[in-house]
Amino acid sequence: MTNQRTIIISNRLPIKITGKREAMQYQSSEGGLATGLNSVYKQKDNIWIGWPGAIVEDAYKQQVRDKLKEQNLLPVFLTQEEINGFYEGFSNETLWPLFHYFPSYATFNPTNWNLYRTVNEKYAQVILEHIRPDDTIWIHDYQLMLLPGLIRKAMPNISIGYFQHIPFPSYEIFRSLPWREELLNGLLGADLIGFHTYDDVRHFISSVNRITNISGFTNELNVNNRSITVDSFPIGIDYNRYYQLAQEANTYRGELKIKQVTGDSKVLISIDRLDYSKGITHRLEAYRFLLERHPELHGKIVLLHVVVPSRDNVPKYKEMKEEMGKLISDINGKYSTLGWQPIHHFYRSFPPNILSAMYKTADVALVTPMRDGMNLVSKEYVASKTDETGVLILSEMAGAARELSDAVIVNPNNIWDVAEKIYMALNMPVEEQKRRMYAMQNTVKRFDVFNWVNNFMEKLQEVKEQQKALLTHTISKETQEKIHTTYANATRRLILLDYDGTLVPFHKQVNEAIPDAELIDILTQLTKDPANDVVIISGRDYKTLETWLGELPLDFIAEHGAWYKYNAENEWNTAPDLNTNGLPSIMQMMNMYTKRTPGAFIEEKSYSIAWHYRRVEKDLGNLRAQELISDVKHIVGDMGLQVLQGDKVVEVKSMYINKGKAVKRWLDKDNYDFIIAIGDDHTDEDTFKAMPAEAYTIKVGKNISAATYFLNSYKEVRKLLHDLCLDDNTLKQGNKQFALL
Ligand code: UDP
Repeated sequence: MTNQRTIIISNRLPIKITGKREAMQYQSSEGGLATGLNSVYKQKDNIWIGWPGAIVEDAYKQQVRDKLKEQNLLPVFLTQEEINGFYEGFSNETLWPLFHYFPSYATFNPTNWNLYRTVNEKYAQVILEHIRPDDTIWIHDYQLMLLPGLIRKAMPNISIGYFQHIPFPSYEIFRSLPWREELLNGLLGADLIGFHTYDDVRHFISSVNRITNISGFTNELNVNNRSITVDSFPIGIDYNRYYQLAQEANTYRGELKIKQVTGDSKVLISIDRLDYSKGITHRLEAYRFLLERHPELHGKIVLLHVVVPSRDNVPKYKEMKEEMGKLISDINGKYSTLGWQPIHHFYRSFPPNILSAMYKTADVALVTPMRDGMNLVSKEYVASKTDETGVLILSEMAGAARELSDAVIVNPNNIWDVAEKIYMALNMPVEEQKRRMYAMQNTVKRFDVFNWVNNFMEKLQEVKEQQKALLTHTISKETQEKIHTTYANATRRLILLDYDGTLVPFHKQVNEAIPDAELIDILTQLTKDPANDVVIISGRDYKTLETWLGELPLDFIAEHGAWYKYNAENEWNTAPDLNTNGLPSIMQMMNMYTKRTPGAFIEEKSYSIAWHYRRVEKDLGNLRAQELISDVKHIVGDMGLQVLQGDKVVEVKSMYINKGKAVKRWLDKDNYDFIIAIGDDHTDEDTFKAMPAEAYTIKVGKNISAATYFLNSYKEVRKLLHDLCLDDNTLKQGNKQFALL
């Protein structure tokens, strides 16, 4: 246990190398993430792997490695070409604009994509050289989306978490990426995938459902028989640090300086990196509109406008910077007086004490990004308002808006409303300011960055333990041997087999699931032994079963128990208590749904009706099925009917019949010393529940089940049955070697 380590991986290490060769300097990063993860990577022999922020010549790489090792850091060295294609190119010119809902800014460049892939592989290589199987790996952000998959491939059982710090866009945006499937498959290598908000989780799951062949509508997905979780973990800040910073002497000095400039005016602040996602020009437009609308504010308000330089050599950013500069100059040019200037603009970054002083001085903080994964400025503002006054105006497009519901929430595109909300904020009574600020402070304090780290790591551990618990249900070698021995030693055997999804795969057309030669052969082998009662126990109508399998010496339960047939008797019987009076009105309802749902069809059986939606577009099918179930649920009870949801099918049948009741006939008539029941569907749960304790119950697929064991697909079922007959024959020939799965 003591050897278990946590490995953090991100594009950048929490340090930056400046200078070259002998003059290299190592500058620590002050960011919130680095602070939060301090508690992780600085412990024991944990490590943080990433790019050190500079191109290092070969001769100096070992020196850098040694220096960083002292701080538990491990560098991945990148070339200029890699930085251009992987980071500047694919990460920042493809993924960033697309994921922030600026699709028209996104470029799709195969060379960049190739470099993105190469660099992800380079990271994987460094990681694989250093990790051990019981390490826990936590990968950060969109630059490394392929990495979970690459590591999973090399180490199938290792624990991998991935957190994305930017939004995950709606499927409609994500689908436009030429490399969408590769990226999703990369992420699905993780055991836990975290985003800031529930909307991101929803979008991710919807993209997985539509783009890959993995389906799941909850936040647990089955990826190659690994149950993974997708969840939201809103990142926090180091609350106490900001609260304390606000009380330091240097901060007070900063406040005094700011007051010298702003005088008695009310102060608004706006603090962002230069980026189109931040809504800087929209915000300036809103401010201009406010000044136009409310001349009484002239001379009485000041906007401290901080923009931290970023990528301004890139054309889109350069353009944006010019537009911003023009707007500021227009507004200041038009409204300034000799003693007053409406905007004080700073294109630079400030040290923590000055930032804190700005937060403290500001009566109103304008945080109105067009789209933001979280937005930390909003939380830092809240933490710095030690006297609990001040108003936060927050864009509904920022992840933070999901938590800070006591902020004044705005749509950043509605500049007229933003202007009105600023006006309202400037006039908000102090009691209301305090009430809102107090509530927000409680949230930001409770859900700080340390809480975020703990929540994520705890959940990752939980997911891993869940996976292990599930593994105990897969059939181990020992269980297989036990099944085989019990089978071989038994004198009377009952073998209960569901049909669709258990013995044959699902087909889009229900009538295409005809038994193939392999299946016929297995069933022939099984039924050859007079000690075996082999029962096909299906929801299908009896005529189909008779046509497909009637030639074999099988027993049958059809239509979930409405019909049954013993091989010895050779004629079909119906169960008592069949009630079909209500079915015509159910039929009417299902017809209505079929008309409204392209691809849906009805299967009419003698004592039940099934509404199939396996050919319907996925989400629509699920939606309609839920509607149909909720419609029929109200009426079926009074009619003695029951509604069942199977795999892409909704079925209404008599409440008094089910597979469990039907199999009782077999259990009552004989003393079996070997019983096995295999099924994949919701309706097979009744069979499993009816089984005596010594029976082997096997669920096909990975849903929660009353069965004791799992198999993954009809192929594994066939193999199990095939090996049973085979073993029995080999045993009879005196050969005790078992053919194991
Ligand atoms: N920031 C800073 N110096 C400045 C202005 C801002 O260090 O002069 C910091 C700010 O305190 C915040 C971060 O930059 O922690 C911006 O984070 P946010 O989530 O708001 O936006 P991002 O830039 O990560 O998209």
